[in-house]
Amino acid sequence: MAYRAVKGMNDILPPEIELWQQLESAFVRAAHLYGFAEVRTPLVEPTELFVRSIGEVTDVVQKEMYTFERHHDSLTLRPEGTASCVRAYVQHSMHAKDPVTRWYYMGPMYRAERPQRGRYRQFYQAGCEIFGDPGPTCDSELIAMLVGLFQQLGISDLRVALNSIGGAESRARYRQALLDFLRPLASQLSEESQRRLEENPLRVLDSKAPRDQELTADAPSTLDALTSEDRGHFDEICTQLSALQVPYEISTRLVRGLDYYSRTLFEVQSNSGELGAQNAIAGGGRYDGLVKRLGGPDVPSIGFAMGLERILLAMGNRPVTSEPFVFVAPLGAACVREALVMAQQIRAAGFRVELDGRDNSLKSKLRRANSSGATLAIVFGEAELESGKVQLKDLAGHSQSDVARDAIAAEVAARLSASPDAARADQSGGGQ
Ligand code: AMP
Repeated sequence: MAYRAVKGMNDILPPEIELWQQLESAFVRAAHLYGFAEVRTPLVEPTELFVRSIGEVTDVVQKEMYTFERHHDSLTLRPEGTASCVRAYVQHSMHAKDPVTRWYYMGPMYRAERPQRGRYRQFYQAGCEIFGDPGPTCDSELIAMLVGLFQQLGISDLRVALNSIGGAESRARYRQALLDFLRPLASQLSEESQRRLEENPLRVLDSKAPRDQELTADAPSTLDALTSEDRGHFDEICTQLSALQVPYEISTRLVRGLDYYSRTLFEVQSNSGELGAQNAIAGGGRYDGLVKRLGGPDVPSIGFAMGLERILLAMGNRPVTSEPFVFVAPLGAACVREALVMAQQIRAAGFRVELDGRDNSLKSKLRRANSSGATLAIVFGEAELESGKVQLKDLAGHSQSDVARDAIAAEVAARLSASPDAARADQSGGGQ
């Protein structure tokens, strides 16, 4: 029986990878412009790290983690990036090196969710974290950075939802107000929400069940429970986003499931491209108490994570223009040796070369050259080589000419630089 990839975990093959690389380099470029440096942490962490940070009463911890035992330790494949960043921040005493640390990361995350379009069991996230700055300026900057990046990637129909659940005092006040509102309705709520009610009532607002949504339509607003400091922080973000002309909507139902959030919460959604029901392309918030909770000093922090697969769906998986290249098709052993040298020369000039050194017919080499997407093909047999010439074919224009062997590298370089694809590939290179 042939093996298949694990359900919900996907291979990403070369034709798709080009789009991935464009997205990744656009993100890296944006992160760099905003002063973030990359951090790489292990894919596996102690299970306890996620239980403590994400929270025991969350879907991620209760149902979705890939956990296993090794050498009497309980280990888990990371379901998200923030906990690992905080662990690394504390472990390496980063606070003592610089009062403000700005990190970004990128890589696969693992959650045993029910797979569907835009929801996978291995998925890629890119994210940023800022430690040591209480905001609100960095809160606004993170949101502006995300929106700018998505606009640059051509994602239309963006919606930025913004809310604040405040710090510990506001949160306790809100929790009580919400419990007072929900308890009389308890018996009408879905079973899942009834269970959440006493454990983590904020999560009832996250329920997707239509009946729960109807019942909670008039739930108290998180903003009404904010202390004046928390309210001032939130209002300043709104003012700054307006000054930056970043459109946003205040969404007092946005509470997000994880335990570690405080104050600012945001989510970016899009209905563009091929995104289906899973339309949240990025989410984040402030987690001022988390560094301390994980054994570090009392350092305020904020971050976001964006889902790369969903962003690609929102981009409509548009094909990217690839860099123009040349296909070299030598016929016969002596020509293959000469072609090796020729390919080196062209690559040294900075151009991509695909060399077909197989011992097969001219016809099959040309068929492959045509289907490869190459702009040019160099074809030569022993007779041509003896006369010091090779044939240069323009595969798009269906024309051909004889070029002196000694002049071929320069001729190819000139033609590929002038190719319209080259201009487009340069513009989109790195997504800048
Ligand atoms: P979260 O860590 O749950 O706040 O998610 C942040 C972002 O990661 C979401 O907005 C999605 O874009 C993406 N994401 C979360 N879970 C999945 C998943 N199972 N499959 C694909 N993308 C996901």
